[in-house]
Amino acid sequence: MTTTADAIRQAARAHGFTRIGIVPAEPSATLEAYRRWIAAEMHAGMGYMARPDRQARREDLGVILPGARSLIVVALDYQQTTPAGLLREPGRGRFAAYAWGADYHEVLLERLERLAQALQPLLGAHRCYVDTGPLLERSHGQRGGLGFVGKNTMLIHPRAGSLFFLGEILTDAAFDDYDPPLPKASMCGSCTRCLSACPTDAFPQPYVLDARRCISYWTIEHRGSIDPALRARFGNWVFGCDICNDVCPFQRFAPLSDEPAFALDTPERAAPLLTDLLALDEAGFAARFHGTPVWRLGRERLLRNACVAAGNWGSPLIAPALEHVLAQGSPLLTEHAAWALAAIARAEGAS
Ligand code: SF4
Repeated sequence: MTTTADAIRQAARAHGFTRIGIVPAEPSATLEAYRRWIAAEMHAGMGYMARPDRQARREDLGVILPGARSLIVVALDYQQTTPAGLLREPGRGRFAAYAWGADYHEVLLERLERLAQALQPLLGAHRCYVDTGPLLERSHGQRGGLGFVGKNTMLIHPRAGSLFFLGEILTDAAFDDYDPPLPKASMCGSCTRCLSACPTDAFPQPYVLDARRCISYWTIEHRGSIDPALRARFGNWVFGCDICNDVCPFQRFAPLSDEPAFALDTPERAAPLLTDLLALDEAGFAARFHGTPVWRLGRERLLRNACVAAGNWGSPLIAPALEHVLAQGSPLLTEHAAWALAAIARAEGAS
C-alpha cells in the first residue's frame, strides 16, 4: 500500500532531492545542548541565535506554524570534483565548497516551494525553510534518518558524507508513516580526525563547536576586525572552511552533485588568485559573486579575509595588491592590509 508519506517521498525525489526524512513536528532532541551552547556564549557575535523569540520557536514549532504536526526534511548534495592542487596554492584564496555555485538558499527554496505546491492537497497549511528559519535542522534531519551528528557537529550520512544542503517544509498535516532515525546515534566511534585537524582548535569537546574559534564564523558571520590571535591559523581560507568535513572518513562516500546550479564552471571559482580578489572593486565583486552565497558577505569583508590569507602566504609578490587596498581609506581594510604587510616583512626577515 502506498502511504501519503510515500507519495511525499516520491514527489521530493522527482523534484531532485536526494534524501528525505518525514518526522513529527516535535521539539528538537538537542534543545538542551543548544541552550548550554548559548549560555556558554559559543555563538560568538551571532546574537540572533540567542534571541528569546528565536529560542521560543525552537522549543515549540507551533509558534512558527500554529497546529504544526509534521516536518519534511530534504537533502540536496553539492559536492563537485575538487581541484585539490589549486585549493592548496597559498597565493589563492580558498572558498568553502558550498559557496562554489549559485546561492543554495534561492535554489532550494524555489524547489521546496514547487514541491509544496505539487503536494498541496496533502499538506494543508505549511511553511518552507532553508537555513534561514528558527529550526535546529541537523537535529530534525537526524531524527528523520538523514544522518548522524558527528563530533564535528555536521550531519553525516554514512553512505553520503556531509556535503549536502538541508531544507524543510513544516506542515499542519499529520502522516501515517514517519521515518525512523538511523540505528546508531553516532557512528564516529573512536575517530577524532576532525577534532585534531581543526587549525584553530574550535572543538572544546566532541560534538561542540565554539564559533569564537571557527574560521567559518570569522570569515562569514563576523562583521568587524578578525581576532589577530587567530589570523595566522586561517591559512588561505577566505570564505568558510571545509577542513572538518574533508578529513572525515565518511566523506569518501559523498556522491558528486548533478545539480547544475552548483556546478563549478571554472576551478577559479573555488580558489581565485589573491591578487584578483584584492583588486576587486564593487562592480567587479558584483559581477563575480552576485547570486552566490558570497554576495551577502560584501566586498569589504571578502577583501578583509583576502588580506589575512595574503599575510599567511607571506610572499612579497602580494605586497603591491595590499598597498592598493591600504590606500582605499577603509579602516577595516587598512588594519588588515597593514597586518598582512607586517606578516610578509616578518617572513622575509626570517628567510
Ligand atoms: Fe566523526 Fe571522525 Fe568524521 Fe569527526 S572525522 S565527524 S570524529 S567520523
